[in-house]
Amino acid sequence: MKILVVGSGGREHALVWKLAQSPHQPAIYCAPGNPGIAALATCVPIQADDVEQLAKFAKEERIDLTVVGPEVALAKGIVDLFEQQDLLIFGPRKAGAQIESSKSWAKQLMLDAGVPTAAYRVFTDLAQARDFILKETPPVVLKADGLAAGKGVVVAQSTEEALSALDDMMANQVFGQAGAQVVVEQYLTGPEATLLAFVDGTDYVLMVPAQDHKPVFDDNKGPNTGGMGTYSPVPDMTDDVIKQVETTIVQPILQELKQRGIHYKGVLYTGLMLTADGPYVIEFNARFGDPETQVVLPRLKTDLVDICLSIAQSPYEDQDVDQDQNTVQDQEKGTGNPKTPRLSELKIEWFDNAAVCVVITAAGYPGNYKKGDMIAGLAAVETARTVVFHAGTAWQDGAIVTNGGRVLGVTGFGETLQQAREQAYAAVHSIEFAGMHYRTDIGKKAMERSK
Ligand code: ATP
Repeated sequence: MKILVVGSGGREHALVWKLAQSPHQPAIYCAPGNPGIAALATCVPIQADDVEQLAKFAKEERIDLTVVGPEVALAKGIVDLFEQQDLLIFGPRKAGAQIESSKSWAKQLMLDAGVPTAAYRVFTDLAQARDFILKETPPVVLKADGLAAGKGVVVAQSTEEALSALDDMMANQVFGQAGAQVVVEQYLTGPEATLLAFVDGTDYVLMVPAQDHKPVFDDNKGPNTGGMGTYSPVPDMTDDVIKQVETTIVQPILQELKQRGIHYKGVLYTGLMLTADGPYVIEFNARFGDPETQVVLPRLKTDLVDICLSIAQSPYEDQDVDQDQNTVQDQEKGTGNPKTPRLSELKIEWFDNAAVCVVITAAGYPGNYKKGDMIAGLAAVETARTVVFHAGTAWQDGAIVTNGGRVLGVTGFGETLQQAREQAYAAVHSIEFAGMHYRTDIGKKAMERSK
């Protein structure tokens, strides 16, 4: 079996790492991949958003299953394109990916589904947005409507800060077209958590919860990043809270998507704030989280290939399928993929352990940062209880060098969060490159709470 993973970050390294453990023993390709991924897969020099070239490659190489990492490809309609060409792919179509690619669309969806989320207003006119902000009491939250690589949200502590962020988005267009429309949102407080779900359009299975740390410095100081580290399990996400999220958020949203004729397949990422009034949605994403995936997938006991195949093969509502036979796609394409059980029949199991991922960044990130610094100590740190996921790395003259803001994600495992933290930080301490930065408090509060 041949699998193509689309993307080049830590999330994709974790996906490739997990898929490579499958009893199906797949040959894995990754476009474009990175040096860490290259140890497990054949890296293909096609950019993750070049959906036409990806489809051409999948067709030529007779790829059996494509798994999409980043949101940009989904928002561009990679799933629609692959399906038009009878290529099996894991992820939502463009219509479903709007849950991430347009925050105003997602907010309306939540409103219609009766899902708890912060009160909001949407603006396309700068003057009207300014007037509104002038009347609000800070803190106030501003969100560029479109995709902004996790940096399009500003939690402004003062009116001045809010107005300046608004100018950046709408007048200075720092996020390009993504900021032409801005969502201004009520400020919520409480611990944050992420709950991912596998979804096949009919059924869903919740994954284990994780928590990210967005701000760049310890104690949640400094600007927001794509994510500085994660841990799983999350003590705040008790069984009761998870149940509440499932019934008040996941189920109604999937129902609302169905009602709109959107057959959502892939991963639904729910970003939560656990407020005093219960769990509220901060955002939905249409794919695995980065760096949540780096702690969630290592805890997955069930074969990820089976899960992805099952979801990709599950028929759309308008497809005529004999449940005892292969799916329509299989029959028509003759891909040779084994028939996998439906998601509802797969018994998805998790390890009862803990995982902590510490992200190492280049100095200056999330602002300007340097590339090309040699990374030392990588080989020594991989053990049975640690894995280093590459994010922004590259080969240069036979050495691995920095090539992005988030450079590496080091995941440690243990029976408890404390053990997992110790493993992760021991590995982080053996890695070295000029100006490397990481938070020292990933999972610290949770560990103290779970003691
Ligand atoms: P991602 O990279 O996860 O897609 P994003 O750019 O879509 O990020 P959000 O996750 O929506 O951004 O928000 C980033 C952070 O801003 C959140 O993790 C949270 O800390 C903060 N935030 C967002 N909305 C609110 C809110 N209504 N009240 C308080 N804080 C918020």
